[in-house]
Amino acid sequence: MSRVAVVGGGIAGLAAAHALATGEPDAEVVLFERDDRLGGKLLTTGFAGHHAIDEGPDAFLARLPWGTGLARKVGLGGHLVSPQSGKAAVWWEHLHGIPEGLLLGMPTDVLALARSRLLTWPGKLRAATEPFRRRTSTEPDSLGQYVRARFGDEVHLRLVDPLVGSIYAADTDHFSLAAVPQIADLAKKERSILIAGRTMPKPATGTGAAAAAGPVFYAPQDGMGALATATATAARAAGATLRTGAAVSELARDGHGWRVEGEHFDAVVLACPAPAAAALLAPLDCLPVGVADTLAAVPAADVAMVTLAVDVADWPEHLLPYSGYLVPKPQQRRVTAASFGSQKWAHWADGRQVILRVSLGRDGLPVLHLSDEQLLAAAVEETGHHLGLDLQPRHARVSRWAGAFPQYRPHHATRIEAAMAALPRGLALAGAGYLGIGVPACIRSAENAAGAVSAALRAVPE
Ligand SMILES: Cc1cc2nc3c(=O)[nH]c(=O)nc-3n(C[C@H](O)[C@H](O)[C@H](O)COP(=O)(O)OP(=O)(O)OC[C@H]3O[C@@H](n4cnc5c(N)ncnc54)[C@H](O)[C@@H]3O)c2cc1C
Repeated sequence: MSRVAVVGGGIAGLAAAHALATGEPDAEVVLFERDDRLGGKLLTTGFAGHHAIDEGPDAFLARLPWGTGLARKVGLGGHLVSPQSGKAAVWWEHLHGIPEGLLLGMPTDVLALARSRLLTWPGKLRAATEPFRRRTSTEPDSLGQYVRARFGDEVHLRLVDPLVGSIYAADTDHFSLAAVPQIADLAKKERSILIAGRTMPKPATGTGAAAAAGPVFYAPQDGMGALATATATAARAAGATLRTGAAVSELARDGHGWRVEGEHFDAVVLACPAPAAAALLAPLDCLPVGVADTLAAVPAADVAMVTLAVDVADWPEHLLPYSGYLVPKPQQRRVTAASFGSQKWAHWADGRQVILRVSLGRDGLPVLHLSDEQLLAAAVEETGHHLGLDLQPRHARVSRWAGAFPQYRPHHATRIEAAMAALPRGLALAGAGYLGIGVPACIRSAENAAGAVSAALRAVPE
């Protein structure tokens, strides 16, 4: 019987273990997780009388097949819910509803942009010159550089950077364009985004026709932690062994296979963050020079998530249509975004309290040197200031996420693809550090890694 080790028990490791245990019933699959719980960034716990409020991700993109695919495979297909349609806003001195017709912050409809008060008139006029500009090279692979060149600094700073930056805790001036395929593909194909926008189906950022296209996000009714739990349960049912409190510090060649923590395995999936994978790979002399260094050099931004419950009676009516808001870089202190959780998710609304999830920190804005008390105070003070409220939370929770979001610097994918191609047969990488940060991309990478490992198992001499 062949044996496969999976290192890391976040969603990537769990999805890899599940794919291997179900796809290779004759192989013994052993997952090693350093922490005393499985799920990694997927963590849902009780809060303010609710049994399941997410501390990390609260949804995954519906448009990509891997999240829904895994949810169905592990029995959660009938338990997926979607956010209620609500308006997102940007805070620039006060709240502005996000204009219609944006593609991750990039305008595709100049009239909708003209109606918004988020941009100044010079900013709007600069954006309107986009169709008359020469093609912008995508070669520098910087999202910020591309958007500034096409639409000017205001569109970048007040729309694209807050929207994309809040998804990845990124400073998009230092973030890879290729890592945002919706924009990168268009940028490669079209000279002008606004001209292309005339014939494009309207992006699903609002309500009405866009909402009819189907949900943008899904989450299990019991939160994203339920996806990790159900995947772990299904992997175990298929025969995988999942060990917690089991950090891996040894990876070495062992004949045609590998030694992991003193045990022989025929293949290994490294589904831990890139720097942890780099530390395991660095001592291997069967690897070309530079592979471990490439992974070690992937930086990550820390974030904190502060969850607050405030009395419904203290929540003004004019905020009811909103799902939350983003804070652009020039206006940021510590808070980068706030989601009005109980307005976003119908099942979080109990009629007594409003639940807010406030995000602090990003690439270039460290926050984890602050104590929990300081993070809470910053969340309450800054959010209160943004909303013009004296927030008196009944309940509060601080979740600290060190290394929360890998930062894909320009040409990240090229470097990672080269590193992956240089790995010996039977060794594969999966997870957020490599070719996609969101949950569906992590699952895709896990399924690809499981496929590569399965192929290697068949090629291993008896
Ligand atoms: C606050 C927050 C909000 C987010 N929101 C969203 C969202 O709404 N939608 C979305 O799609 N994505 C979101 N993301 C991103 C997404 O959750 C992550 O990118 C994804 O869950 C990462 O999964 P992973 O398995 O690659 O890594 P992790 O979840 O980091 O798992 C890696 C695991 O490896 C373990 N490990 C490390 N070293 C070792 C070792 N030596 N031996 C054994 N185990 C080891 C770690 O303990 C960890 O459990 C969010 C992330 C955060 C932090």
